[in-house]
Amino acid sequence: MAEFAYFDNGGTTAVAEEVLNEMLPFFREHYGNPSSIHAMGGTALKAMSAARKRISSALNCRPSEIVFTSGGTEADNLALLGTVPHLGGRKKIITSAVEHSAILETCARLRSLGYETTILQADREGRIAPDTLRAHIDDDTALVSIMAANNVIGTIQPVAELAMIAHEHGALFHTDAVQAFTKVDIDVMRDSMDALSISGHKIHGPKGIGALYVRNGVKIEPTMLGGGQENGMRSSTENIPGIVGLGKATEIAMSSMDDDVKRMTAMRDSIIDAVLEMSGSYLNGPNDGRLCNNAHFGFDGVKGTDLVLKLSKKGIMASTASACSAGSTEPSHVMTAIGRSPSEALSSLRISLSRYTTQDEVDHLLSSLPDALRAVRK
Ligand SMILES: *Cc1c(COP(=O)(O)O)cnc(C)c1O
Repeated sequence: MAEFAYFDNGGTTAVAEEVLNEMLPFFREHYGNPSSIHAMGGTALKAMSAARKRISSALNCRPSEIVFTSGGTEADNLALLGTVPHLGGRKKIITSAVEHSAILETCARLRSLGYETTILQADREGRIAPDTLRAHIDDDTALVSIMAANNVIGTIQPVAELAMIAHEHGALFHTDAVQAFTKVDIDVMRDSMDALSISGHKIHGPKGIGALYVRNGVKIEPTMLGGGQENGMRSSTENIPGIVGLGKATEIAMSSMDDDVKRMTAMRDSIIDAVLEMSGSYLNGPNDGRLCNNAHFGFDGVKGTDLVLKLSKKGIMASTASACSAGSTEPSHVMTAIGRSPSEALSSLRISLSRYTTQDEVDHLLSSLPDALRAVRK
């Protein structure tokens, strides 16, 4: 049996060996600046173009529509802060109550800058119904931003339909696809996305690198000013090792996506079945239309943080709701948004898988959980 089991892949993932190997030469010998006109600059520029191509082919866009950023958070910030000044004086931004804080906090900033924000309510499974958007959108709406899949409870949103509604009113549509990318079929052309965020470290790439797809023709006001890199949309010397790593991570994930999704789905379902057999347990989030790697449970009479720490002592790494809210002991805003009480929200455990999760790890989790539950309920 594995002595160490990692079930916090929604928080971050291991860097794939092939990704690391492809990155290392760009720390060691190929350390040139892609803006330099000499040979070493050229090597860096070529590697960056290759990575851009891999990512654009995964999303079905043009390489010139990819802007590299320092992560998913910056991509989300840029998508919102960057687009709204160019939307003809429209003053309203629509988002949802289950978004990542990178979106919700940026919306708060926009409010302080004089914009109006509408936060759509989710249903009990965390879904934003197209009719909810229809009821709130108007011709003063500049941008609609709804995530492709939720990081806490795994709900997959009907983004293509939501984008269509946004476009009917002349608004742009952005999606935070950090969790969905390489796990849900994404095609920015087919689904009419105007902007879309991804991140390296959620797909077995490195931390500190991400990208924003921006449809050709959509104007972006940069939030980072300086040397004019990334077509003026994001200044600062490019993170070449990170960019190479994101490109490689994308390529590997896309090449085995179908098989990986199938395997993770089967493992996830076996975990859900087994945990729901345990008394006082329930599932948060949807039965259908859920990320292949996400299972999220509530346990009566249990404090989630106690359970996570107890499991950690047994070598099992899981999370309560979202590592993104940095050790917070407040109930997750996603849990309250789906109608859970604060005490229900605080009794949760998120199990998130990756394509490297083994059956041994699953066995370790399922054999340790009943004991851990007994101990923390005492
Ligand atoms: C992790 C995450 C982010 C933030 O990405 P970073 O690269 O860590 O900045 C944004 N949105 C969602 C849905 C996430 O899961």
